[in-house]
Amino acid sequence: MVGMMVVGMGVMGLLFLNSPISLEMVAGVVVIIVLAFPLAMWLTRRVLGPVWELQSVVRTLLSRWGLQPEEHDDVDVLTNRLVQLTSISQERIQALESERAKVGAVLDSMVEGVIALDRQGIVMLMNPSARRILVIGQESVAGQSLLEVIRHRGLSDLVEFCRTLKPNEQCRREVALQLPVQRILEVNAMPLPDTQGIVLVLHDISELRRLEQVRSEFVANVSHELRTPLTAIKGYLETLLDEAPDEPATHRRFLEIAHTHADRLSRLINDLSRLSDIETGKVVLHTRSVGLRTFVNDILAIFENEAGKRGITLHNEVSTEAIVWADRDRLSQILVNLVDNAMKYTPGGGAVMFKVHDRDQGFTGLQIIDTGQGIPPSDLPRITERFYRVDKARTRDQGGTGLGLAIVKHLVQLHGGSLRIESELGKGTTVEIELPLEQFTSAS
Ligand code: ADP
Repeated sequence: MVGMMVVGMGVMGLLFLNSPISLEMVAGVVVIIVLAFPLAMWLTRRVLGPVWELQSVVRTLLSRWGLQPEEHDDVDVLTNRLVQLTSISQERIQALESERAKVGAVLDSMVEGVIALDRQGIVMLMNPSARRILVIGQESVAGQSLLEVIRHRGLSDLVEFCRTLKPNEQCRREVALQLPVQRILEVNAMPLPDTQGIVLVLHDISELRRLEQVRSEFVANVSHELRTPLTAIKGYLETLLDEAPDEPATHRRFLEIAHTHADRLSRLINDLSRLSDIETGKVVLHTRSVGLRTFVNDILAIFENEAGKRGITLHNEVSTEAIVWADRDRLSQILVNLVDNAMKYTPGGGAVMFKVHDRDQGFTGLQIIDTGQGIPPSDLPRITERFYRVDKARTRDQGGTGLGLAIVKHLVQLHGGSLRIESELGKGTTVEIELPLEQFTSAS
């Protein structure tokens, strides 16, 4: 364009002269034209070269964003295109930022731990759940390798193994970490596309494994508990059938023993089905206002006779103002169980006493205190587990099923309260159940 202008100016000069054309003039014009043309070309390249380059870049960018570039862009179109490109870029950046925020929010709210490692095994990302699972806290892990963050051979082996995987392949491994409590993690590892990094997804399955163990122990315990009285019943009945003892007294004694074991069997099955009803939500509470003093008196009356025989004194120190919000039948079941235990494990001359201990937040603590044999500190944490007994043989002989405290705990929890047990070996035990006050109605 600049070249054309220069040539044009030459021709215009000729026309303006408006005089006879001499040879020198023509030659001059030709020389001007010859000199002006390369100059014009040079100037054109110099001035428009960067614009053309810019046009080509813009075209490439436009086609990358999926837009059709125009074939003949002039400077105005180019300017418009640049404005368009800027606004598209801004939109894309905003979209990417919002996408990033979304991914960040998802990672932050995930229950599973997520750790991303680069090709050197350096931690690039660790979500809050991974920190919680690995007990890492808020300290920075940037620039550290996974092995520096958490020393565990199983995990680092898994990372190494993951490097041999093809894209889209993944591997799963269960690792046990001492943190300092043992945690069992299921770790899924997969290579990150393009980066040669690795992403690890940690799933804390400690509770799942614990429950599996509890379940299998429970099944083993139930079979054992049922088998013991059944074997006895079968044994005595077979003896009666096969050998038929002559004396009626022996006959009767065998039948009585079989009967005692049948009783035990039925107690066990009743307790098991009670427990299962509570756990499966079949028990519905019919709560109302219960005056504790009178209620406790009624419970103690059930044991008066036996206590008198064994020289155990029963005390009710609950005040008449103590009123709770409870299901009378279930409360009676709870208290009978607890007094039964207190009596069972308290020798003659001892005492069983009821007291009330005011608790905050709308609850009253009803305490059943005995002066019995007590529970060793090592057994206390497990005492409410199903079938857990301190002295297995002895408590079984005393008719215990090992399910009483488990049932009590669940029934108290159904009322919205909790169970606490304190004990000193040789001195006695205090069992405290938390029950909601009258105005506390959420358990109804
Ligand atoms: P059980 O029917 O065998 O009594 P529980 O679940 O009621 O089962 O109690 C579990 C175990 O806790 C008992 O076997 C006994 O060893 C211990 N225990 C419960 N209550 C008392 C208590 N008041 N004093 C001493 N030991 C107790």
